Amino acid sequence: VNAGPLPGGETIYALSSGAGRAGIAVIRISGPGCLDVYNGLCPTKPPPRPRYAGVRTLTSPDQAPDANNIVDSDALVLYFPGPKTVTGEDVLELHVHGGPATVKAVLAVIPKCRSREKIRYAEPGEFTKRAFMNGRLDLAQIESLGDTLAAETEQQRRAAVRGNSGFLGKTYEDWRQHLLLARGEIEALIDFSEDQHFDESPAELLSNVAQLVDGILGSIRLHKLGSQRRELLRNGIRIALLGPPNVGKSSLMNQIVGREASIVSAEAGTTRDIVEASLDIRGYLCAFADTAGIRTDGRAVNSEGYTTSGTIGAVEEEGIRRARRKALDSDVIIVLVSVEGAMAKGGGHRLSYDVETLQLAAGAQQCLVAINKSDVVDREALRILVEDFKTSVLGSVPGLHVAEPLAISCKAAAADAAGLADPGGIQALAEALVKSFSALTSLPGDMQHLLGVTERQRQLLVECQRHLEDFTSEARPCGIEGQEQHDADVVLAAEHLRLAANCLASITGRGDAGDVEEVLGVIFEKFCVGK
Ligand code: GDP
Ligand code: ZN
Repeated sequence: VNAGPLPGGETIYALSSGAGRAGIAVIRISGPGCLDVYNGLCPTKPPPRPRYAGVRTLTSPDQAPDANNIVDSDALVLYFPGPKTVTGEDVLELHVHGGPATVKAVLAVIPKCRSREKIRYAEPGEFTKRAFMNGRLDLAQIESLGDTLAAETEQQRRAAVRGNSGFLGKTYEDWRQHLLLARGEIEALIDFSEDQHFDESPAELLSNVAQLVDGILGSIRLHKLGSQRRELLRNGIRIALLGPPNVGKSSLMNQIVGREASIVSAEAGTTRDIVEASLDIRGYLCAFADTAGIRTDGRAVNSEGYTTSGTIGAVEEEGIRRARRKALDSDVIIVLVSVEGAMAKGGGHRLSYDVETLQLAAGAQQCLVAINKSDVVDREALRILVEDFKTSVLGSVPGLHVAEPLAISCKAAAADAAGLADPGGIQALAEALVKSFSALTSLPGDMQHLLGVTERQRQLLVECQRHLEDFTSEARPCGIEGQEQHDADVVLAAEHLRLAANCLASITGRGDAGDVEEVLGVIFEKFCVGK
């Protein structure tokens, strides 16, 4: 199963735990010289039993043994003989005291241990690369390992562990084997059909292979869906907050950040407003855009009295243009309307809303309507306003499918009304948001592992899909017409199967993918030293 020659006979070592002050630091050594390193550091005691921890005093190998050559006392030492180890080689682990000076001292003495082969510091990702070379991990697993190390939110972590099992790699390898087998049968048919008796007629064989190919094509569609959902979890679900000026968009954003989310990163509009922020809302990474805070002249639109009054038309226009664009590339749109003014003279007993916003929302995958400033009217008046809004406004926007509008009050939330479990209804809004996130990212229960399909794998699956479709269009005419021979088509059909199988080989890094080194480069450059 080796994809290439083993990397030298060199022994590598690195600090595998995080750098900086910590109670314990883990230094990992991998390669044929593990026992040499052990004997260099602990010359007076035999190595601990494989896979059992032993307490040892580590000493410097280039000094005469005395009390001055102790590098670390009470270190925990573990020895794992290959090949059933994390790298597939002999592995030695030193759990030493975590102080920077101790770590530095231990790292400095390791290469001084006497060994037949070179002992050197590891390159980024080199432990994992050796695991791959020795068949301990396939590329799909390594990529999800990379995702696991990079995961910042709970949902990213969950998606990443899906890919760790090796299930995806096994699936692709299984498809590849089937395709290669089918190709072999087709080629045998081309070469020998003249002088040999076959159990299947050529038409039968082709139609059987076409069935296999159809099955794989169906699965590829699902795997592509899985990868699309993984990208949403990784890159963040894009949310746009839309509504006319002054309905409370910035207030709502601040409430969500204050109560239901933590900021991953933010771009501020003014000192108090956030224009765009990466938020962690209950484990989901979201890119949250407050479209009101768009700046055109270095000042925030909503904090200096720039409203729809028409006095600064260009600013308004630019703001609206950007809000529209934001809305068009959002996954979730929150439409905010306001109760303010509804009961005032001339308010017409109607909520303040904007029709274009609702039309934009109709085009989004998920849409929520929130009615802010519910604190300015009493309960019964609110109920009537909302009912009227639902029938006369929401019901009349073509293509708009929204759940029950949620009444909120950023003011009540900010005042943190004592005794209320969810002052201002922000928590209920967050729950509705999370529901829409899970609708955007969920897969049926038995398909959760497809959340491990990476973008690189998706591209290869798309390529594989094209070759399989080429196969289908070559193979079909023969099958349908039931002709005995159709040489040119059959040869071409077999070639498409080979190309499709190659795409799968590039996913796992197994077989004759050809570009294994290149693929490895792309994947490992993201890894840090010690992994
Ligand atoms: P934006 O222009 O949509 O971003 O609206 P802002 O968040 O800047 O709010 C506009 C005004 O409405 C501010 O004076 C807020 O204090 C006020 N406001 C926001 N939310 C509420 C609310 O729930 N109730 C009341 N009474 N006023 C609110
Ligand atoms: Zn093709």
